[in-house]
Amino acid sequence: MDIQSAVAAVDPGHGVRVGGRALATAHTFTVTDPATTSTLAEVSSAGADLATAAVDAAADAFTAWASTSPRTRSEILRAAYELMIGDADHLTTLICAENGKPQSDARAEATYAAEFFRWFSEEAVRTDGSYGLSPAGAARTVVTHRPVGVAALVTPWNFPAAMATRKIAPALAAGCTTVLKPARETPLTALAIAQILQRAGVPDGVVNVVPTTASSEIVGTWLADDRVRKVSFTGSTGVGRVLLRQAADRVVNASMELGGNAPFVVTSDADVTAAVDGAMIAKFRGSGQACTAANRFYVHSAVMDEFVERFGAAIAALRVGPASDPASEVGPLINAHAVETVQQLISGAVQEGATVAATSSIPDRGFFLAPTLLTDVQPDAAILAEEIFGPVAPVVSWNDEDDLLAQVNNTEYGLAAYVFSGRLQDALHIAERIDAGMVGINRGIVSDPSAPFGGTKQSGLGREGARIGLHEFQETQYFSIQD
Ligand code: NAD
Repeated sequence: MDIQSAVAAVDPGHGVRVGGRALATAHTFTVTDPATTSTLAEVSSAGADLATAAVDAAADAFTAWASTSPRTRSEILRAAYELMIGDADHLTTLICAENGKPQSDARAEATYAAEFFRWFSEEAVRTDGSYGLSPAGAARTVVTHRPVGVAALVTPWNFPAAMATRKIAPALAAGCTTVLKPARETPLTALAIAQILQRAGVPDGVVNVVPTTASSEIVGTWLADDRVRKVSFTGSTGVGRVLLRQAADRVVNASMELGGNAPFVVTSDADVTAAVDGAMIAKFRGSGQACTAANRFYVHSAVMDEFVERFGAAIAALRVGPASDPASEVGPLINAHAVETVQQLISGAVQEGATVAATSSIPDRGFFLAPTLLTDVQPDAAILAEEIFGPVAPVVSWNDEDDLLAQVNNTEYGLAAYVFSGRLQDALHIAERIDAGMVGINRGIVSDPSAPFGGTKQSGLGREGARIGLHEFQETQYFSIQD
């Protein structure tokens, strides 16, 4: 599908979706293709009045949606899955255009995003609870779960489809209604998902989408509204802290999927070819702009030379380019500011003694930054403490396991980690001592709709996906029954 038709199909000029209606606004904002810097669309920008109108619609729709049968909600989500797979070309085109990731990554994201609809269509009917006798024998205890209420969902630009469906699917399965604020960089994909849900039979008002440039005003309005009982946020730790403070005022139930600083550990007996393959995925998927991206590489000194040589060769051979070229393997960063930030991290590391051991070539136009391998990185270098969010791989060598783990855990983040080792027992011994929510063992990817996604420490609160992802949108209620 060509970009213009893909964009026109989501009607960005009427980009605020409230109560099943597509609304235009007095103000619009520009969405840019990061690979070309050209304008893709002018999208309606909501203010506080439409933020409130979205909550009105969600609150009005709540009672009816919460009381539909689990089977009805399940079948609507299943229909959304089928429609999303059928619309994969459209979604891939939009993700490529507004996010910039290569076609292969965008298509993989469209499928991954659709899988949340399938997974939660299956979970929607597995309503769990319990029935028991109180210890003193005086009462029967019945435990059940109910939808938490209107849920405010706030998503980032790096996975414009999957971060939305990872929240919408469990919310709808639980019986919640939603107001979604997509990132201003990538609202078009969210609008396409809203259309799919409408076609799947989601009633008006159950999913409302509010693109805006006034993020803090919109989300602040939601968090101050008594009818909003849940906030589910994916984004940076800094913004997560702000939203947690706002949520505290009304004690709003909060799920937070925040930043990461994933270590990638290679042991002395690891299969270096497999480790490099894993490193390429863990580092360069989405140009390193993933919360789970490997951020720092700890390679045992026994295999350091071999790892650096092979990793460097793979990086030098990467095809960096726009998604319009199907052979592109790495796309641009999201904007000029991101390029500048990552460049500063590289030059800071070089000033601290690091060596640029490999890079690849990049196009002249667009927000591209060359994938870069840094060696001779000092264990206390600033680049190891920051979330790089770009295609830069700093490598440090290690010898002593206790020392390694002290360095690996010396971060306020605890989202993902990777361990490559020839012996599973050794890998587990290291993995179990890493303070992170997810550890990839001999693989460079951890995301899976059926697995609990989330982090420890300042990487977040709660989990998405799996069974637990549904509970994030439920309250537990129990009945104490005298017989
Ligand atoms: P961001 O925090 O800048 O923005 C995320 C969302 O919050 C966007 O919709 C943005 O418009 C909105 N926002 C920004 N400031 C706000 C405010 N003051 N009030 C209300 N809303 C506000 O993050 P980003 O740059 O879009 O995404 C990158 C970050 O997201 C990285 O730190 C990455 O690690 C993290 N991330 C985490 C996960 C995860 O699952 N843990 C997944 C993807 C991205």
